Amino acid sequence: RKAVVKITTGSQALDELLGGGIETLQITEAFGEFRSGKTQLAHTLCVSTQLPTSMKGGNGKVAYIDTEGTFRPDRIVPIAERFGMDPGAVLDNVMMLLSHSILLVCMQRWLKNLSDYWWVFLELTIPNKLNLYFFQKLAQMLSRLTKIAEEFNVAVYMTNQVIADPAGGVFISDPKKPAGGHVLAHAATVRLMFRKGKGEQRVCKVFDAPNLPESEAIFQITGGGIAD
Ligand code: ATP
Ligand code: MG
Repeated sequence: RKAVVKITTGSQALDELLGGGIETLQITEAFGEFRSGKTQLAHTLCVSTQLPTSMKGGNGKVAYIDTEGTFRPDRIVPIAERFGMDPGAVLDNVMMLLSHSILLVCMQRWLKNLSDYWWVFLELTIPNKLNLYFFQKLAQMLSRLTKIAEEFNVAVYMTNQVIADPAGGVFISDPKKPAGGHVLAHAATVRLMFRKGKGEQRVCKVFDAPNLPESEAIFQITGGGIAD
């Protein structure tokens, strides 16, 4: 059995909630309201994954699957600087794949090349509405990702789009009805619910995890990424 590597989120409180950080060998899913920090955590992980293990990193590279066009290379710069890393070198180790739902087939082929990467993070935003074709492709891809995580000791982080409330036109997150339906809920081993707290605070709640208590942690989004 491979040793689990725990990669820091940038927030000590959040790391403690997760029992040390985002773990390899499993899929971690973040869902919750807009601007709650799901994508900012993905950007922070792009950097912390590359830190040495002595600094709570994964000593590895990153693959970032972006289905929503939310990856911002310029956000990586101050985050890398905060962790004392060279931004250019950090960016070189982030492999990008821009993908729209129809291109999931290509993504599957591309995933076969992932074994070259030591620790990998992915931001995969699952669209709200799924047609049957996409649903099938998604299920196949998630099963492939689960195998990759187990085979190559990779950490998979994915974000899940919010649910739109048709009545009010307000964006709400409904934990009982995650976007992507049950396909995603089954694939993810750890499910985290993000929300906005007081002022600039953000809150992360362990929604579903086999080995973690259902508690909460408060964190902040800063120029240097996720922090306490
Ligand atoms: P969505 O569901 O819309 O994708 P999300 O959960 O992915 O939302 P993020 O994009 O991770 O949300 O977080 C957006 C928040 O991060 C905003 O409140 C924004 O103000 C904050 N933010 C982004 N960049 C910075 C920065 N450089 N410094 C401080 N806060 C920032
Ligand atoms: Mg986002």
